[in-house]
Amino acid sequence: MQDQKIIPLKESPISFKTDRISGSDITHIFSWLKKTEIKIIENKNKIFIRKKIDGIWYETLFENSHHFFKKMMLTRKKTAFSTFSRAFEPKESDWKFIKTYSNMIYVMTTNKCNAQCKVCFAQDTLKPEEMNMDDIKYIISKAGKNKKIMFFGLEPTVRNDLPEMIKLVKDSGNIPTLFTNGLKLADSEYTKRLKTAGLKEVFLSFNGFQHTYQKLESENSYNLKTKALQNLKNNKLFTFLAFVLMDNINENEIEKMIPFLITNNDFIKGLFLVPLSPFGRLEIPQKRYFTYSDIIKKIVESKNTTCKEGYFFEFEKLKINLHKFLIKFRKNISTGSQIITVPFKIEDKLIKEVIDLKTLKKINSALENGNIWNLLKYTYFTMDFLRFFLNSTKFYYKNLDKNLIYISLYQITTDLNYLPFWTHSIGIIKQKDNMNQNKFIFNCI
Ligand code: SF4
Repeated sequence: MQDQKIIPLKESPISFKTDRISGSDITHIFSWLKKTEIKIIENKNKIFIRKKIDGIWYETLFENSHHFFKKMMLTRKKTAFSTFSRAFEPKESDWKFIKTYSNMIYVMTTNKCNAQCKVCFAQDTLKPEEMNMDDIKYIISKAGKNKKIMFFGLEPTVRNDLPEMIKLVKDSGNIPTLFTNGLKLADSEYTKRLKTAGLKEVFLSFNGFQHTYQKLESENSYNLKTKALQNLKNNKLFTFLAFVLMDNINENEIEKMIPFLITNNDFIKGLFLVPLSPFGRLEIPQKRYFTYSDIIKKIVESKNTTCKEGYFFEFEKLKINLHKFLIKFRKNISTGSQIITVPFKIEDKLIKEVIDLKTLKKINSALENGNIWNLLKYTYFTMDFLRFFLNSTKFYYKNLDKNLIYISLYQITTDLNYLPFWTHSIGIIKQKDNMNQNKFIFNCI
C-alpha cells in the first residue's frame, strides 16, 4: 500500500525529538502498523502516538488510560482507504468506498467564519478553498443516495447560497445537515428559510452555559445561541449539541448539560463531546488534556445518568460483532467511524442504557460464538440494531422521535495523532496542490 503525501496542519505544541522520549513501544498490537513510521508508545499508563513527518519525530498524547486504549481500540480494523494518511487525494476506489459504506459525509464549504472562538481548532489550521455549486453537485454525484451530507466550516452560514446548497442535497435524495456556531440561527426567519429548503438536522456548538461563555467569549454569543436553540425547537429541527470539554474551564458544566438534554429531548437528540484539541488556538499544558476515557468517566459519574463505563465498551464491541456477522450477507454495512456513538434512553428524568449491560454482554457473546439460538432470544433488540447498521435512515429518524439520546465522543485528529483505523466518515475539503490546481482532499474522521 503506497502512502500518499501528508498534508500537515500545524506542528504539535508537544512535539520533540525521539531521543528525549521514553516508554515501551506497543505498536505490534496492530500488526499492519509494523512497516509504517507510526509508533504507539505506552508511558506511565498513558498512550502516545509517535510519528515521523519530514524527518522529525513528533509525539502526541492519545489516551490518558492505557487500559481504555487496549480495551476499546484493539477491536478496530485497519483503514480500507488506499493510503494510511489522514488527509489524501482520493482515488476512484476511495470514492467508491464512501459511496458503499458511508452514511455521513462532511463537506467543508467555506474558509470564512463570523466568530473568533478561543477554543477554535479550525481557523488557524485549515486553509480550504471555497466550494462552488458545481463542487457540491460533483460530491453529491459521487456520494450516492440516502446519506447525511453535513455542511461544515469553518462556518457554513456565512455563505449566502446555503439554502440553495441544502435544497440541492435534499433534491438528490440525501439528507442535509449543518454544523454551525448558531449565531445566524438566532434569526428566526433565517432558521425557517433553512428548514424550508430541506434542512433536517443541526449540530450546534454549545460549550456550556452563561458562566462558560462569560469566561471564554461573550455573554452576547451565549444569548444568540439560546435564541438559536429556541428557533431550532420551533422549527422541529433535530439538534445535537457539540460541546468542547476543557479542564478547569467548563468540565463541571457536564453535570448541568445532562439535565438540560433530558428537559429538551423533544428536539435535542444528542451530545457530541469533543475534548479541547492540542492543535487548536487555546494551548494548555499536555497533562490537562482530556481524552476519551476521561469523558466517559465524567458521564458515568453524573448523578443524572445510570450508565456504567462497560456500556461504552460493550456497545463498541456490538458494532464490530454485528459488522462481522452482517458482512457475510450484505456488503454495504456501515460501521467503524472513529467517532464513538452510543444510544441512551430517557426515563424517570435520567439517562439510562437502552439495554442493560448484562444482556448486551450476552448478545455480544452470542454473536462471537455464532450462537444463533441465543441471539434469537434478543431478536427485538438485535433487529433494531440490524436496521441501524443497514443504513436505514428511515429507522434512524423513527427512533429520533422516541425518547432516545445519542452520546458521541470524538478526539480531533491531525496528521500527528491519526491512527489509520477503519472509518467510513470523511470530511471533504477543496485545496490547492503544489501546481496551484484545486483538488478534493479526503480527511478521515
Ligand atoms: S470554533 Fe467554529 S465558530 Fe468558532 S471561530 Fe472556529 S470555526 Fe468559527
